[in-house]
Amino acid sequence: MQIKPDSEGPIGNSGLRINLLGKPEVQLADFFEELGEKPFRARQVLQWVHQRNVSRFDDMTDLSKQLRAHLCEVASIELPEAISEKKSADGTVKWLFSAGGDQAVETVFIPEKTRGTLCISSQVGCALDCTFCATGAQGFNRNLEVDEIIGQVTYANRQLPPRPNGARPVTNVVFMGMGEPLANYRNLIPSLQLLLSDYAYGLSRRRITVSTSGIVPHIDRLSDDCNVSLAVSLHAASDTLRNELVPINKIHPIAELLAACWRYAEKRANRFITFEYVMLRDINDTARDADDLIQLLQDRPAKVNLIPFNPFDGNQYKCSREQTISDFQRRLRERGLVTTIRKTRGADINAACGQLAGKVRDRVRSRLSEKVRN
Ligand code: SAH
Ligand code: SF4
Repeated sequence: MQIKPDSEGPIGNSGLRINLLGKPEVQLADFFEELGEKPFRARQVLQWVHQRNVSRFDDMTDLSKQLRAHLCEVASIELPEAISEKKSADGTVKWLFSAGGDQAVETVFIPEKTRGTLCISSQVGCALDCTFCATGAQGFNRNLEVDEIIGQVTYANRQLPPRPNGARPVTNVVFMGMGEPLANYRNLIPSLQLLLSDYAYGLSRRRITVSTSGIVPHIDRLSDDCNVSLAVSLHAASDTLRNELVPINKIHPIAELLAACWRYAEKRANRFITFEYVMLRDINDTARDADDLIQLLQDRPAKVNLIPFNPFDGNQYKCSREQTISDFQRRLRERGLVTTIRKTRGADINAACGQLAGKVRDRVRSRLSEKVRN
């Protein structure tokens, strides 16, 4: 994945060709206007790239020959470079994508009967340091650019076979790979615009899920900018325990987080918010924990998704026992909370939730990492 500065004009100060892959319609229309072309060229190019899987301008036959030649000089459509691809016995596929300079991020495709879900990364590593997460343990290097985020979807759609009904393989996208999407807000929004645009992927809002550990101000911004489905990594029902497991809680405690969630749900006509809850043995899995969670979420537009903890090297936690997880689920359900248990997929290739590590070199201490550590 090549990164080029956002500020670069179509010709580029450095003489580099500009990668159009990460440009949503408005930016692409500006680009064509700067070239002296009509803005509707943007829609044509979006359709070629994201719907017809074409990257070579020469093959975009509804553009004039002259324009095609000009585009070849000043622009390109560059997909991320896959360093490796692994397939799990259960059909899950995991790719490792280069993020330049010996850095890499992971993307996972989870095929199911009724959908194909792509779990994408938004950052190289993560600064938020949740104690049970392999990505957090890696530290943080940098945000992914828009072309690097959307490129994961483009690549998977081109690489995988179509669905049995002929539809594109990726029907759902979840921001549950490496990184905290709301900490890369600047690049998240254009990526969501491309996923939603009828000229690009045309996915509906309910087929796109942003998962966050709770960067409250950006939850509010997201509800105005692009209110897709929201998943919130709650994992604890008391501030004392959540401060320990999800350190961003020290900055945005549970009451503040939930207030933002209910505001978000209200703007989406009370569509449910999914609360993720990782099941950690003897840490957050008692009947008392379940009752505290019920107190927080009952009679709200909330669903709970219990995630069996996925172990990784160097981590001390254990997954709750199967019986404990089903008892926990039953307790929540008895009090009217829609509660599911996430099926672990791709564990044999370390592709399950929280196991994505990629390659994070040259960790940097971001403002966020300083904040959550203090
Ligand atoms: N940063 C975002 C999205 C990426 S993590 C977030 O935290 O929500 C995606 C989900 O995997 C989150 O709910 C996260 O808490 C969960 N997760 C992290 N480590 C895990 C592990 N080892 N086992 C199971 N789930 C884990
Ligand atoms: Fe970051 Fe999410 Fe992992 Fe926490 S769980 S460290 S926010 S990726």
